[in-house]
Amino acid sequence: MVDLKNQYLKIQHQINSGIQEVIDSTTFIKGGKVTEFQKHLEDYLHVKHVIPVANGTDALQISLMALGLKPGDEVITPTFTFIATAEVVALLGLTPVVVDVDFDTFNISIESLKKAITPKTKAIVPVHLFGQNADMEEILQIAREHNLFVVEDACQSIGSDYIFADGQKVKSGCMGDIGCTSFFPSKNLGCFGDGGAIFTNNDELAEKMRAIANHGMVVRYYHDFVGVNSRLDSIQAAILDVKLNFLDKYTTNRQTAASFYDKAFSDCGKLIIPARSEKSTHVFHQYTLQLVDIDRAALVKYLADKGIPAMIYYPVPLHLQKAYTDLRYQQGDFPVAEKLCDCVLSLPMHTELTKDQLEFITKNVLEFVKNKE
Ligand SMILES: *Cc1c(COP(=O)(O)O)cnc(C)c1O
Repeated sequence: MVDLKNQYLKIQHQINSGIQEVIDSTTFIKGGKVTEFQKHLEDYLHVKHVIPVANGTDALQISLMALGLKPGDEVITPTFTFIATAEVVALLGLTPVVVDVDFDTFNISIESLKKAITPKTKAIVPVHLFGQNADMEEILQIAREHNLFVVEDACQSIGSDYIFADGQKVKSGCMGDIGCTSFFPSKNLGCFGDGGAIFTNNDELAEKMRAIANHGMVVRYYHDFVGVNSRLDSIQAAILDVKLNFLDKYTTNRQTAASFYDKAFSDCGKLIIPARSEKSTHVFHQYTLQLVDIDRAALVKYLADKGIPAMIYYPVPLHLQKAYTDLRYQQGDFPVAEKLCDCVLSLPMHTELTKDQLEFITKNVLEFVKNKE
């Protein structure tokens, strides 16, 4: 699904010397490289504060810890997403409330969101799924009306722009009170292990989250909050600091591959290509098709036999996961997400896809579809 080897080989010398610099300095935790990367990412995103942490899940958890929520407070999140979004809500003793998504963009449904708000609702965690921003202008408006926090899950959307009605463009993760991202190797900006970051323009929240990520410590060995230990390693920061220079190029490569897929599949009535929102650029963390009357398992097997990977993101919506049965949702509660879980298929998507590879993939997908007609 990704080709991290070829991506690395093109920037091998820069990466290696960045790593060597950290080894020579022996500053493995905090210090030089982490601060440099943090500053560079703040500049790239045009955001006041970037707080590097150990992974994207921690970023979400620390964000919610900083909001001062109480057990029983409700946090709304889409049901069609990676589990981490709801997991941290549950871990903190808060109540995850899930809502449906839009069939075309896979992102949180504004209509479903409005219906889910109760007096106990305290925060919304929209997920910018597959690399395209949710409808943030509407979400921020709803949050203002109901006095709710907005924590963006931008783990799949770093570098994407949201375009407000007045034409203003803001980077993904920098619109709500807080934004979270992941530097997991296969993410759009990936390191060589685990990593993550929190974004905010709010000075007070930034200070609190920085402290929470460091055992709740503001002054050394004085602990003002219950915290956690969540750090980005200096070696990972050195790698990310190199790769950040290529993020826009990586995004262009992904968009070029997506356009190739689009062109190949757009005339095929049995494949629905990913919709583009007018309000967001798409950085294609995933290229996800919707299959119409196609045996998905058979297609996956057919492709696998030709050496082409294809993945189902995600096969089960949050509300039907075993661990979350206590939320008492039922099959049928969120029909769009349930339908998507049955019909989505993600194709290889990364920065190194060649024309030959794309031709081979699209040819085989189309062959399977035609043979079944
Ligand atoms: C990857 C991801 C996370 C978690 O990030 P980790 O770094 O793996 O903890 C959270 N939410 C979404 C939508 C993700 O894609």
